[in-house]
Amino acid sequence: MQLIPCPWCGDRDEVEFHYGGQAHLVHPADPDALSDEEWAGYLFLRDNPKGWFEERWSHAAGCRRWFTVVRHTVTHEVRGSHRPGERVAVSAS
Ligand SMILES: [Zn+2]
Repeated sequence: MQLIPCPWCGDRDEVEFHYGGQAHLVHPADPDALSDEEWAGYLFLRDNPKGWFEERWSHAAGCRRWFTVVRHTVTHEVRGSHRPGERVAVSAS
C-alpha cells in the first residue's frame, strides 16, 4: 500500500486515486496552427525521467479534485503534493 497525500484530505491509500500522467502540460493556444506531427507530440509524447517527476492525480474516491504529486519514478517515494496553480521545485537527482 502506498499513501498519496491529497492536499485537501491528507494521506489516503493509493487505491482511492486515479493517475493522470505528467503534470503542467500546457494546452496549445491555437491548436489549428499546429502540424499533425506537433499535435501528436502534444497528445502523446511525455517526459519519462528516472527520478523525481511531477504527476497529476485525482482523488477519485474522495474529494474528486485534481492535484500534483511529486514522486520518484524508481523508488516510488512521494516528496509531497500541491494544489493546481502551485509549483514546487523538484530536484534533478
Ligand atoms: Zn481529496
